[in-house]
Amino acid sequence: MSILVVGSVALDSVETPFGSADRVIGGSGVFFTAAASLLAPVRLVGVVGDDYPLEKLDFLTERGVDLSGVERAEGESFFWAGRYSHDLSSRDTLETRLGVFADFKPRIPEAYRDSRYVFLGNIDPVLQLEVLDQMREPAAVICDTMNYWIEGSRDALVELLKRVDILMVNDAEARQLAGDHNLLGAARWIQERGPRLVVVKKGEHGAILFGPDWMFFVPGFPLEVIFDPTGAGDAFAGGFVGHMASVDSQEPDDLRRAMVYGSVMGSYAVESFSVDRFRSLDEKEILHRVMQFKQMTSFEHQLVESDG
Ligand code: AMP
Repeated sequence: MSILVVGSVALDSVETPFGSADRVIGGSGVFFTAAASLLAPVRLVGVVGDDYPLEKLDFLTERGVDLSGVERAEGESFFWAGRYSHDLSSRDTLETRLGVFADFKPRIPEAYRDSRYVFLGNIDPVLQLEVLDQMREPAAVICDTMNYWIEGSRDALVELLKRVDILMVNDAEARQLAGDHNLLGAARWIQERGPRLVVVKKGEHGAILFGPDWMFFVPGFPLEVIFDPTGAGDAFAGGFVGHMASVDSQEPDDLRRAMVYGSVMGSYAVESFSVDRFRSLDEKEILHRVMQFKQMTSFEHQLVESDG
């Protein structure tokens, strides 16, 4: 089943303790697509400026991704620069330049409007609402956001939540949005405003899925080398929604497996700069890591009746 994704198509400059990358391809839409397209058909809507090296996205087209919804406008592409701390556990945004994104009005091509799954990547919630207005009847709307919009476009974001099925945020964003330091409390606050499910990502520590009356926890995959954490959250979303769309189900067991696919794709994202790891990643490697998760997290426990 097809996924429509609307998100940033960016140029990123990133500094980590292991090196730096200057003006490499990135953005929420690109990281999501690079991961999700390994599992299900993806259509990407976004905008780039005349400085964008579109040929660097050829590997996506070769994999069947429909990029005809990526507009090219006159001006500078969205640009983001960030620097990571020594242990990669935090990052500072050094610069965000909206460029052509500032005047972007998402136009969903007619052929995309019946997509069953809609992923609203991290962009202005006003634009995320405009996307939903153009869609027919998606089976699920999954939405990401970040502190930039929680602070700057809070009212539109709360309005948007009414029309979202699954909100995906990191732990700091969940706390900030809900104004509650307790994650359970924050998830309930969000669920009361619309989304049936909330996925809270916790970086290398994994992610939690909050259902109506159940929870599921997936760890982060333990890696020897973490090169660049940029885009891990979007790649997680790509794995999660990609699996959901490939089995076309939102049953709890499928959602649990989707969480594992999310964590697998997040772990691959951090192994290289930009989307480089996704250029060569194949189905066998993905499945291998999924099975490693199964082996690392499942256990038997026999209940022994006490005779006392
Ligand atoms: P993540 O590491 O998953 O939070 O995603 C990082 C990606 O988000 C980078 O490739 C940036 O280009 C993109 N990004 C950063 N800030 C914004 C923003 N305000 N709006 C949209 N995309 C952004």
